[in-house]
Amino acid sequence: MSLPYLYKTPAWLRWIYPQRIWRLPALDNQVYLSFDDGPHPVVTPWVLDLLKEFDAKASFFCIGKNVEQYPGIYKRILDEGHSAGNHTHTHKNGWHTPLDTYIEDVKKSARVISSRLFRPPYGRLRSAQAKAVKKVLGADTKIIMWDLLSGDFDPSVSISKSVEQLNKHTKPGSILVFHDSEKAFPQMQQILPAVMKNIKLKGWGFGGIN
Ligand SMILES: [Zn+2]
Repeated sequence: MSLPYLYKTPAWLRWIYPQRIWRLPALDNQVYLSFDDGPHPVVTPWVLDLLKEFDAKASFFCIGKNVEQYPGIYKRILDEGHSAGNHTHTHKNGWHTPLDTYIEDVKKSARVISSRLFRPPYGRLRSAQAKAVKKVLGADTKIIMWDLLSGDFDPSVSISKSVEQLNKHTKPGSILVFHDSEKAFPQMQQILPAVMKNIKLKGWGFGGIN
């Protein structure tokens, strides 16, 4: 089946937002796995266990409200050496949220997530919002986008197509997006281990974004 979204971020999108981070330098042969929308009481520990098996580090873009609900799991993310980033408090869509409301939401999440990494939900963030986010979180805040989407959030995704596309396009420096959420779990559970095996086979490592 054809999919309504692209696995690989097109060049024109990176060109429109050059100040946002779409991929990282390939220097040390690291691939950057990222997990959005957690922490979740079942899915996040499953991911953390898998990462441990691979001796891998990754980045978790957490929703503040979920961190409040599952502080122990959030702590485990940090204790195991992964990086955490701010993904707003209630998963706000920047295009549909007024500036003040958006920033209040980011401030709330900053109370429980101490990080200079920010990823806008749905990748939607207006320029004024980006500026204001940096005012709240610090001028050196990095807005982390991605190079590749797994499509794991879509229950109708073809698992084999997703794995094939990710294996084809992943290279050192790539930032991959998965979701540690209930909705994504059935798909992610199959896609992630296959993709990690491929990355390991190529001899690349798994890094956390700093
Ligand atoms: Zn999200």
